[in-house]
Amino acid sequence: VRDPAVAAVIEWWSANARALPWRATRDVYAVWVSEVMSSQTTVARSAAAWERWMRRWPTVHALATASLTDVLAEWHGLGYPRRARDLHRSARIVAASGWPDDLTQLPGVGAYVAAAIRCFALQEPVLPVDVNVRRVLDRRLPGGIDIAGDPWRAGQAIMEFGQRICAARPRCGECPVSDGCPTVGALGGAAAARSAPRARSAPGPGAASLPVRRRRPYEGSVRQRRGRLLGRVLAEGVVELAADDREAARGLVADGLAFLDDAGRLRTPD
Ligand code: SF4
Repeated sequence: VRDPAVAAVIEWWSANARALPWRATRDVYAVWVSEVMSSQTTVARSAAAWERWMRRWPTVHALATASLTDVLAEWHGLGYPRRARDLHRSARIVAASGWPDDLTQLPGVGAYVAAAIRCFALQEPVLPVDVNVRRVLDRRLPGGIDIAGDPWRAGQAIMEFGQRICAARPRCGECPVSDGCPTVGALGGAAAARSAPRARSAPGPGAASLPVRRRRPYEGSVRQRRGRLLGRVLAEGVVELAADDREAARGLVADGLAFLDDAGRLRTPD
Protein backbone atom coordinates (compact mmCIF):
# COMPACT_ATOMS: atom_id res chain seq x y z
CA VAL A 1 0.00 0.00 0.00
CA ARG A 2 1.60 3.24 -1.13
CA ASP A 3 -0.30 5.71 1.05
CA PRO A 4 1.79 6.12 4.24
CA ALA A 5 -1.31 6.79 6.37
CA VAL A 6 -2.92 3.55 5.22
CA ALA A 7 0.36 1.71 5.79
CA ALA A 8 0.48 3.10 9.33
CA VAL A 9 -3.10 1.99 10.02
CA ILE A 10 -2.21 -1.49 8.76
CA GLU A 11 0.83 -1.55 11.04
CA TRP A 12 -1.33 -0.51 14.02
CA TRP A 13 -3.86 -3.18 13.15
CA SER A 14 -1.23 -5.89 12.73
CA ALA A 15 -0.24 -5.33 16.37
CA ASN A 16 -3.75 -4.81 17.75
CA ALA A 17 -6.21 -6.81 15.66
CA ARG A 18 -9.08 -8.55 17.41
CA ALA A 19 -9.11 -12.29 16.97
CA LEU A 20 -12.20 -12.88 14.83
CA PRO A 21 -12.80 -16.41 13.55
CA TRP A 22 -13.76 -15.42 10.00
CA ARG A 23 -10.42 -13.73 9.47
CA ALA A 24 -8.87 -17.16 9.02
CA THR A 25 -10.91 -17.89 5.89
CA ARG A 26 -11.07 -16.51 2.36
CA ASP A 27 -14.02 -18.68 1.42
CA VAL A 28 -16.76 -16.67 -0.30
CA TYR A 29 -19.62 -18.40 1.51
CA ALA A 30 -17.98 -18.17 4.93
CA VAL A 31 -17.14 -14.48 4.50
CA TRP A 32 -20.63 -13.76 3.21
CA VAL A 33 -22.24 -15.37 6.28
CA SER A 34 -19.91 -13.41 8.59
CA GLU A 35 -20.74 -10.11 6.94
CA VAL A 36 -24.48 -10.68 7.03
CA MET A 37 -24.35 -11.76 10.68
CA SER A 38 -22.15 -8.94 11.90
CA SER A 39 -24.00 -6.23 9.95
CA GLN A 40 -26.71 -5.90 12.61
CA THR A 41 -25.43 -8.01 15.50
CA THR A 42 -22.50 -7.31 17.82
CA VAL A 43 -19.19 -8.79 16.78
CA ALA A 44 -18.92 -10.87 19.98
CA ARG A 45 -22.29 -12.55 19.43
CA SER A 46 -21.70 -12.89 15.71
CA ALA A 47 -18.37 -14.63 16.25
CA ALA A 48 -19.86 -17.41 18.38
CA ALA A 49 -22.88 -17.74 16.12
CA TRP A 50 -20.72 -17.86 13.00
CA GLU A 51 -18.61 -20.72 14.38
CA ARG A 52 -21.75 -22.74 15.21
CA TRP A 53 -23.24 -21.97 11.81
CA MET A 54 -20.12 -23.00 9.92
CA ARG A 55 -19.92 -26.27 11.83
CA ARG A 56 -23.53 -27.02 10.96
CA TRP A 57 -23.53 -25.77 7.34
CA PRO A 58 -19.92 -25.54 6.19
CA THR A 59 -20.76 -24.94 2.52
CA VAL A 60 -23.33 -23.06 0.52
CA HIS A 61 -24.65 -26.41 -0.73
CA ALA A 62 -25.12 -27.63 2.84
CA LEU A 63 -27.11 -24.50 3.66
CA ALA A 64 -29.19 -24.91 0.50
CA THR A 65 -30.36 -28.36 1.61
CA ALA A 66 -31.36 -27.20 5.11
CA SER A 67 -34.98 -26.39 5.92
CA LEU A 68 -35.86 -22.73 6.43
CA THR A 69 -37.22 -23.66 9.87
CA ASP A 70 -33.82 -25.03 10.92
CA VAL A 71 -32.06 -21.98 9.49
CA LEU A 72 -34.36 -19.59 11.38
CA ALA A 73 -33.96 -21.60 14.58
CA GLU A 74 -30.16 -21.47 14.29
CA TRP A 75 -30.35 -17.73 13.66
CA HIS A 76 -32.79 -17.03 16.48
CA GLY A 77 -31.42 -14.53 18.99
CA LEU A 78 -29.32 -12.65 16.42
CA GLY A 79 -32.24 -10.46 15.38
CA TYR A 80 -33.51 -9.38 11.98
CA PRO A 81 -34.38 -12.93 10.86
CA ARG A 82 -35.04 -11.81 7.29
CA ARG A 83 -31.26 -11.91 6.99
CA ALA A 84 -31.37 -15.68 7.60
CA ARG A 85 -34.26 -16.11 5.17
CA ASP A 86 -32.28 -14.24 2.51
CA LEU A 87 -29.11 -16.25 3.17
CA HIS A 88 -31.14 -19.41 2.74
CA ARG A 89 -32.84 -18.20 -0.46
CA SER A 90 -29.52 -17.07 -1.86
CA ALA A 91 -27.83 -20.36 -0.97
CA ARG A 92 -30.48 -22.22 -2.98
CA ILE A 93 -29.92 -19.91 -5.95
CA VAL A 94 -26.15 -20.39 -5.78
CA ALA A 95 -26.49 -24.16 -5.36
CA ALA A 96 -28.69 -24.29 -8.46
CA SER A 97 -26.95 -21.75 -10.69
CA GLY A 98 -23.54 -20.89 -9.24
CA TRP A 99 -22.33 -17.54 -7.91
CA PRO A 100 -23.51 -14.61 -10.04
CA ASP A 101 -20.88 -12.18 -11.31
CA ASP A 102 -22.88 -9.41 -9.68
CA LEU A 103 -23.39 -10.56 -6.10
CA THR A 104 -26.06 -7.92 -5.50
CA GLN A 105 -28.39 -10.07 -7.61
CA LEU A 106 -28.68 -12.39 -4.60
CA PRO A 107 -31.46 -11.70 -2.09
CA GLY A 108 -30.19 -9.63 0.82
CA VAL A 109 -26.81 -8.82 -0.75
CA GLY A 110 -26.44 -5.07 -1.06
CA ALA A 111 -23.53 -3.00 -2.26
CA TYR A 112 -21.72 -3.16 1.08
CA VAL A 113 -21.88 -6.95 1.51
CA ALA A 114 -20.91 -7.47 -2.13
CA ALA A 115 -17.88 -5.22 -1.66
CA ALA A 116 -16.94 -6.99 1.58
CA ILE A 117 -17.02 -10.36 -0.18
CA ARG A 118 -14.85 -9.02 -2.99
CA CYS A 119 -12.35 -7.55 -0.54
CA PHE A 120 -12.29 -10.15 2.24
CA ALA A 121 -12.79 -13.33 0.23
CA LEU A 122 -11.66 -12.60 -3.32
CA GLN A 123 -9.06 -10.06 -2.14
CA GLU A 124 -9.95 -7.58 -4.84
CA PRO A 125 -9.08 -3.89 -4.31
CA VAL A 126 -12.63 -2.89 -3.44
CA LEU A 127 -12.98 -1.10 -0.12
CA PRO A 128 -16.22 -1.98 1.69
CA VAL A 129 -17.48 1.24 3.22
CA ASP A 130 -19.51 0.77 6.37
CA VAL A 131 -20.22 3.60 8.80
CA ASN A 132 -16.80 3.18 10.48
CA VAL A 133 -14.82 3.18 7.26
CA ARG A 134 -16.79 6.15 5.99
CA ARG A 135 -15.87 8.10 9.13
CA VAL A 136 -12.17 7.35 8.67
CA LEU A 137 -12.30 8.43 5.05
CA ASP A 138 -14.10 11.65 5.93
CA ARG A 139 -11.75 12.59 8.74
CA ARG A 140 -8.35 11.32 7.73
CA LEU A 141 -8.36 10.28 4.08
CA PRO A 142 -10.74 12.68 2.35
CA GLY A 143 -9.01 12.31 -0.99
CA GLY A 144 -9.91 8.61 -1.15
CA ILE A 145 -7.44 5.73 -0.96
CA ASP A 146 -5.90 3.04 -3.09
CA ILE A 147 -5.78 -0.35 -1.35
CA ALA A 148 -4.58 -2.30 -4.38
CA GLY A 149 -1.26 -3.30 -2.79
CA ASP A 150 -2.85 -5.22 0.10
CA PRO A 151 -6.62 -5.06 -0.14
CA TRP A 152 -7.55 -7.66 2.47
CA ARG A 153 -5.37 -6.26 5.25
CA ALA A 154 -6.11 -2.64 4.33
CA GLY A 155 -9.86 -3.29 4.43
CA GLN A 156 -9.69 -5.13 7.75
CA ALA A 157 -7.37 -2.53 9.25
CA ILE A 158 -9.35 0.55 8.25
CA MET A 159 -12.60 -1.01 9.42
CA GLU A 160 -11.25 -1.94 12.86
CA PHE A 161 -9.42 1.38 13.15
CA GLY A 162 -12.76 3.12 12.59
CA GLN A 163 -14.44 0.94 15.22
CA ARG A 164 -11.82 1.37 17.92
CA ILE A 165 -9.71 4.49 17.36
CA CYS A 166 -11.28 6.88 14.89
CA ALA A 167 -14.64 6.05 16.44
CA ALA A 168 -17.62 8.40 16.80
CA ARG A 169 -15.75 9.60 19.92
CA PRO A 170 -12.24 9.51 18.48
CA ARG A 171 -9.25 8.45 20.56
CA CYS A 172 -6.84 10.83 18.86
CA GLY A 173 -4.29 10.40 21.68
CA GLU A 174 -3.84 6.75 20.69
CA CYS A 175 -4.04 7.33 16.95
CA PRO A 176 -1.11 6.15 14.81
CA VAL A 177 -1.95 8.66 12.06
CA SER A 178 -2.70 11.79 14.08
CA ASP A 179 0.21 13.59 12.41
CA GLY A 180 -1.23 15.22 9.36
CA CYS A 181 -4.83 14.52 10.33
CA PRO A 182 -6.96 17.50 9.30
CA THR A 183 -9.55 16.61 11.94
CA VAL A 184 -7.39 15.99 15.04
CA GLY A 185 -8.30 18.35 17.84
CA ALA A 186 -11.41 19.56 16.04
CA LEU A 187 -13.46 16.76 17.58
CA GLY A 188 -13.88 15.84 21.18
CA GLY A 189 -16.06 13.57 23.29
CA ALA A 190 -19.78 14.16 22.98
CA ALA A 191 -19.26 16.90 20.42
CA ALA A 192 -17.60 14.38 18.17
CA ALA A 193 -20.46 11.95 18.59
CA ARG A 194 -22.98 14.66 17.72
CA SER A 195 -21.09 16.05 14.79
CA ALA A 196 -19.45 12.97 13.31
CA PRO A 197 -19.07 13.86 9.66
CA ARG A 198 -21.22 12.10 7.10
CA ALA A 199 -20.13 11.06 3.65
CA ARG A 200 -19.31 14.29 1.90
CA SER A 201 -16.27 13.17 -0.01
CA ALA A 202 -15.88 10.44 -2.55
CA PRO A 203 -14.55 7.34 -0.79
CA GLY A 204 -12.31 6.48 -3.68
CA PRO A 205 -12.44 4.19 -6.67
CA GLY A 206 -14.15 0.89 -6.15
CA ALA A 207 -15.65 1.81 -2.78
CA ALA A 208 -19.22 0.77 -1.96
CA SER A 209 -21.25 2.34 0.81
CA LEU A 210 -23.57 0.91 3.45
CA PRO A 211 -26.67 3.03 3.96
CA VAL A 212 -26.84 4.40 7.49
CA ARG A 213 -30.07 3.42 9.25
CA ARG A 214 -31.34 4.69 12.56
CA ARG A 215 -32.70 1.97 14.81
CA ARG A 216 -35.94 2.43 16.70
CA PRO A 217 -36.14 1.36 20.37
CA TYR A 218 -36.52 -2.41 20.60
CA GLU A 219 -38.38 -2.63 23.92
CA GLY A 220 -42.12 -2.68 23.31
CA SER A 221 -41.72 -2.58 19.52
CA VAL A 222 -43.48 -4.66 16.91
CA ARG A 223 -40.05 -6.10 16.14
CA GLN A 224 -39.79 -7.38 19.70
CA ARG A 225 -43.29 -8.94 19.54
CA ARG A 226 -42.43 -10.54 16.21
CA GLY A 227 -39.18 -11.93 17.62
CA ARG A 228 -40.96 -13.47 20.60
CA LEU A 229 -43.70 -14.93 18.45
CA LEU A 230 -41.22 -16.38 15.96
CA GLY A 231 -39.31 -17.91 18.88
CA ARG A 232 -42.51 -19.62 20.09
CA VAL A 233 -43.33 -20.93 16.62
CA LEU A 234 -39.82 -22.29 16.13
CA ALA A 235 -39.89 -23.95 19.55
CA GLU A 236 -43.45 -25.30 19.43
CA GLY A 237 -44.07 -25.81 15.70
CA VAL A 238 -47.59 -24.39 15.90
CA VAL A 239 -49.01 -21.52 17.95
CA GLU A 240 -52.59 -20.56 18.73
CA LEU A 241 -52.70 -16.81 18.27
CA ALA A 242 -53.97 -14.45 20.93
CA ALA A 243 -55.67 -11.28 19.70
CA ASP A 244 -52.62 -9.14 20.37
CA ASP A 245 -50.36 -11.55 18.43
CA ARG A 246 -52.12 -10.93 15.15
CA GLU A 247 -50.20 -7.90 13.92
CA ALA A 248 -46.86 -9.60 14.62
CA ALA A 249 -48.14 -12.80 12.99
CA ARG A 250 -49.16 -10.95 9.83
CA GLY A 251 -45.66 -9.50 9.60
CA LEU A 252 -44.03 -12.91 9.98
CA VAL A 253 -46.27 -14.39 7.29
CA ALA A 254 -45.69 -11.46 4.92
CA ASP A 255 -41.94 -11.97 5.31
CA GLY A 256 -42.14 -15.70 4.62
CA LEU A 257 -40.92 -16.59 8.11
CA ALA A 258 -44.07 -18.51 9.12
CA PHE A 259 -47.48 -19.35 7.70
CA LEU A 260 -51.06 -19.43 8.90
CA ASP A 261 -52.90 -22.75 8.59
CA ASP A 262 -56.59 -23.15 7.80
CA ALA A 263 -57.43 -22.99 11.52
CA GLY A 264 -55.67 -19.63 11.85
CA ARG A 265 -52.72 -21.03 13.80
CA LEU A 266 -49.19 -19.90 13.09
CA ARG A 267 -46.81 -22.61 11.90
CA THR A 268 -43.15 -22.99 10.97
CA PRO A 269 -42.48 -22.20 7.30
CA ASP A 270 -41.60 -25.75 6.20
S1 SF4 B 1 -6.28 11.93 14.82
FE1 SF4 B 1 -8.33 11.53 15.62
S2 SF4 B 1 -9.75 12.22 14.00
FE2 SF4 B 1 -7.69 12.00 13.06
S3 SF4 B 1 -7.66 9.90 12.23
FE3 SF4 B 1 -6.77 9.81 14.28
S4 SF4 B 1 -8.52 9.29 15.63
FE4 SF4 B 1 -9.37 10.02 13.67
